[in-house]
Amino acid sequence: MIRVEVFAEQPLHLGSQLDAGWLTDTHRFVPGSVLRGALAALWLAEHRPPKPDTTSDMEFQRLFEGGVRFGPLYPSDNALRPLSVFGCKYADDDTCRRFSHDAAFDGAAPAACPVCGSPVEASKGGVDGVRIVEHTRVQLDEHERAADGQLYTRRALPAGTQFTGLIDGDPDGELAWLVQTERSVLLGGRRSTSGLATLSARAEASPPSFTGFVSDQRRLVVRLLAPGIFVDTVGRPSWLPDVTELSVTLGVPVAVDAAFARPTFVSGWHAVSNLPKPRDFAVAAGSVFVLRFDAGLPDHAGLRRLWQAGLGLRRTEGNGWITLQRWNPPVLPSAGPKPALDAVHELFVQIVGYGIGPTIVDDLRGWAQQRHVGAAPSSTAEDILAKQRYLLLSPAARDAVRAAFTLPADDAERLARLINDWTRARTSTRGRTA
Ligand SMILES: [Zn+2]
Repeated sequence: MIRVEVFAEQPLHLGSQLDAGWLTDTHRFVPGSVLRGALAALWLAEHRPPKPDTTSDMEFQRLFEGGVRFGPLYPSDNALRPLSVFGCKYADDDTCRRFSHDAAFDGAAPAACPVCGSPVEASKGGVDGVRIVEHTRVQLDEHERAADGQLYTRRALPAGTQFTGLIDGDPDGELAWLVQTERSVLLGGRRSTSGLATLSARAEASPPSFTGFVSDQRRLVVRLLAPGIFVDTVGRPSWLPDVTELSVTLGVPVAVDAAFARPTFVSGWHAVSNLPKPRDFAVAAGSVFVLRFDAGLPDHAGLRRLWQAGLGLRRTEGNGWITLQRWNPPVLPSAGPKPALDAVHELFVQIVGYGIGPTIVDDLRGWAQQRHVGAAPSSTAEDILAKQRYLLLSPAARDAVRAAFTLPADDAERLARLINDWTRARTSTRGRTA
């Protein structure tokens, strides 16, 4: 497994099915399909020529259409509140908000909140610890003119949002290219002012134990972190995972004892053929299944097999991602100041925002290399700004250029690399996301 950490450098718009005409919403997490798309674009930019044909590209297929599975990213491992968790319906204060009862482990929930006596209600599968910002603008008609008095609202996850999650693949094998350095990726971004994120990846050992397995009760609690697409024996949509497949994976017979589930739909876009994928009935992320073992108990290897495999159909697209760990209420950060970008990142975001990444990147790399080998750079920031192609830049953009060419050599090199990654990721997605 590979642990992925993502830091949003710009606001993220991650498509959601909740869109109404006047509202474009965003997911509160990064779907595995979005992570997969972003890494596919990055891989193509680094390993293949522009406009690659991936239809017969075996390595691309193996990475992105086959063996490797891309999990969803959340603000923390416990951020998705499972549907089996009950809480105070009118949680007005922190004491009420802290009350939670997980019916998958602890039986039926009490009827009333032990703190205030209000009714309790089941989780709807919300994501804790993520902030949403809204931009409301005048709606434009097809000629980009303001339509009469109509407003629309676009929701986004603000810059500074952080996510974490897993990829099922070999960090010493097919995914070695990913774990080397931090990368700039585009998450759901369609324009120069959104979608940019820094991604880092490292190997992570599989967990030594699965706390969702309660051996003395002969039960295993399985939580979906992504939608699950299940069918019955004749291929009709189902609310429940296939017990035959579960039994084979776990190595012992298994039955579904209880389910806490909500319906949803999963659609998608097939990047290679540029065609929509079919819309499937699915069980929503946050759904919980309680499995029962009447004969024999699974061993750790069996549990690990299930954890790594996930459940249901269309898993390559990020569906059916599960956890076998008991949910714990996440420790919510106090509403303090958001983490600041470091100075190089700040400058990087400015530069790509001004659209001058391609203008500056070669000069900057050359200049950083000169400084690196100890030679006095042959040109100062002012010499560079005197070049033809910098003359027409706005004063603010010229300030950003000046700041870049006064960085220490290491920082300048890092900035050049960030811009380079960004430009390549941007180029390789162009034309496929009209
Ligand atoms: Zn209460």
